[in-house]
Amino acid sequence: MIKVNNLSKEFHEQGARNELLAVDHVNFSLQDGSFCALVGESGSGKSTLAQLMCGLLAPSSGEVLFDGKNIALYRGKQKQALRSKIQLILQDGKGAMDPRFTVHEIIAEPIRNFRKLTKKEEEQEIAELLTMMELPEEIKLRKAHEMSGGQQKRVCIARALAAQPDVLIFDEAVSGLDVLVRKHILDLLKRLHQERKMTCFFITHDLDVALYLADRVMVMRCGKIIEDRAFHGSTDCFTHSYTKLLLHSIAPYLG
Ligand code: ADP
Repeated sequence: MIKVNNLSKEFHEQGARNELLAVDHVNFSLQDGSFCALVGESGSGKSTLAQLMCGLLAPSSGEVLFDGKNIALYRGKQKQALRSKIQLILQDGKGAMDPRFTVHEIIAEPIRNFRKLTKKEEEQEIAELLTMMELPEEIKLRKAHEMSGGQQKRVCIARALAAQPDVLIFDEAVSGLDVLVRKHILDLLKRLHQERKMTCFFITHDLDVALYLADRVMVMRCGKIIEDRAFHGSTDCFTHSYTKLLLHSIAPYLG
């Protein structure tokens, strides 16, 4: 389980006299196997929160607990293990992959770093991950620039899964994809979540994507979580005026 306790991150903006509080005393916990979406407009602090949750940024105050332990205190092997347990998937699939590597090498890397598999088991695992992501086997010989945006995204997810994570954090992971490709990947994620029972934390500026995917929706604004609701299909659960404004803006698409 991930628990975020009174977490804040300040940045010093160049030319500004005051610090910018990008994440402002945030509290929540993610139950194992849950699918939670975090919605907010650009600049609301979502990516900063994601990086704090993975230990890529140090908090200014507060803490992130993973299985009860403050991740800032992880050292050595524990820290290495944490890197495999919490995987971050970013918007820029192509940029996240080394252009010199083939898909096979890209997916093999976390397997070699975090798991002890024989060559044969590694081959089998890569084949299974490609099948799971509905990618043809021959794609393993391609490099990042030889794939479509949707294929790049699937390879990034396969690579994250290769590390056998407990938690997947998606930061605007389907933004910039065509509508149909996006829908296909969202459906794949839903299925994956049901099959693998991983904890998923999905960051998006699209409330409709959040409502499509998650059974819990948090809304972030100016560094704060202003709404945090279990979502079971009816938007009546949302009460904050800002969330209602967001709902109003997507009303024509909700049907
Ligand atoms: P979001 O992901 O919701 O778009 P971010 O977490 O990227 O928001 O940014 C939140 C705020 O923190 C923004 O005002 C952004 O300019 C600022 N910020 C993010 N990273 C840094 C940084 N490394 N240095 C200074 N300010 C930053």
